Amino acid sequence: MKKNIFEVACQQLDLVAKELKLEPEVHRLLRQPMREFRFTLPVRMDSGKVKIFQGFRVQYNDARGPTKGGIRFHPEETIDTVRALAAWMTWKCAVVDIPYGGAKGGVICNPKEMSKGELERLSRAYIDKIFLIIGPDKDIPAPDVYTNPQIMAWMMDEYSKLKGYNSPGVITGKPLSIGGSLGREEATARGALFTVREAAKHLKLDLSKATIAIQGYGNAGSFMAILTKKLFGSKIVAISDSRGGICGPKGLDPQAVLEHKKKSGSVIDFPGTKKISNKDILELKVDILCPCALENVITEENAKDIQAKIIAEIANGPTTPEADKILSQKKTFVIPDILCNSGGVVVSYFEWVQNNSGYYWKEKEVCERLDENITNAFATVFDVSIARKIDLRLAAYIIAVERVIKTMRMRGWI
Ligand code: GLU
Repeated sequence: MKKNIFEVACQQLDLVAKELKLEPEVHRLLRQPMREFRFTLPVRMDSGKVKIFQGFRVQYNDARGPTKGGIRFHPEETIDTVRALAAWMTWKCAVVDIPYGGAKGGVICNPKEMSKGELERLSRAYIDKIFLIIGPDKDIPAPDVYTNPQIMAWMMDEYSKLKGYNSPGVITGKPLSIGGSLGREEATARGALFTVREAAKHLKLDLSKATIAIQGYGNAGSFMAILTKKLFGSKIVAISDSRGGICGPKGLDPQAVLEHKKKSGSVIDFPGTKKISNKDILELKVDILCPCALENVITEENAKDIQAKIIAEIANGPTTPEADKILSQKKTFVIPDILCNSGGVVVSYFEWVQNNSGYYWKEKEVCERLDENITNAFATVFDVSIARKIDLRLAAYIIAVERVIKTMRMRGWI
């Protein structure tokens, strides 16, 4: 049975509540979303028939600023996955200290089976439904699993039409031509790369000799593979996607694997490689394991079999609290998702700042500011984990939750 990920998010918060001895009402307030919306989306399909989709937007907590978080298009989306992801966005924005609260959205659909026109109509219908509750100063969506810059462009266009003026700051992760930021597409991977670089320093691991396995080959996974090879010279020995995986102990060419996936729909059958399952890739003897797909993949069942020295959580919620305990006993260096994958939202913040000021930065500036932000956040989390003798996830949560509570107190909410 798959764990309910909102329960996982609550369990993680409960550990913080215990560690910080939170007052029960503060704990209760943080344990549930501030606001949530569910709606039906009638969309005309290419066949001429109307299909009804189910959509969600959860605004978890807006103490620190407008809520921020992506939109997922996924067949297994539920209100609970959106709740959990919205909670994680709240902690993520707080741990990297950007002035946002957390939110998330989703639609139950299978974009792989939809035409471009159907996807456009669904994207516009989604914005029509949440138009009143989003805005550059209210709630700012972005891409997530199976949504992309094109979808963000349609959504921003729909919002702007309804408003009556161009409003690029309502959504981030847009294409460059309509107000996107340089460096946004690879930002999640680049941020993760900086956290891996910092972790490697602590472990005295030479990244030019490190072996890496990548589970999930969407935006974050593919850029992670390409950038670690290019910038550090690390060896990518295995890659998987939803259909299966490949391994090549001598090292794979991540760019060529990406081209193959674009042509054939999957990384599998890439010439000169052996097949590996999505389960086995997690247990390979590598230096760095990067789960880059969905939640709940490292559990109490397989945690003891994981051999990687570092787990870079590029996906949201890949590890369950039970697995965390096992990994912590094994001294696996787990870079928690809310820190590891925060590069995406940090550059989303830069994009929003650029949209709001109408002045656009050079790529070098985006990357340098991202590096500074992530490196500082990593150091703060690491120091708290040493001082309190706790793992990095709990340390990151403590920093985030304390920041949210401090703002709520200032505002007089608690
Ligand atoms: N979907 C990404 C995440 O989970 C990015 C969110 C954003 O840029 O707002 O962090």
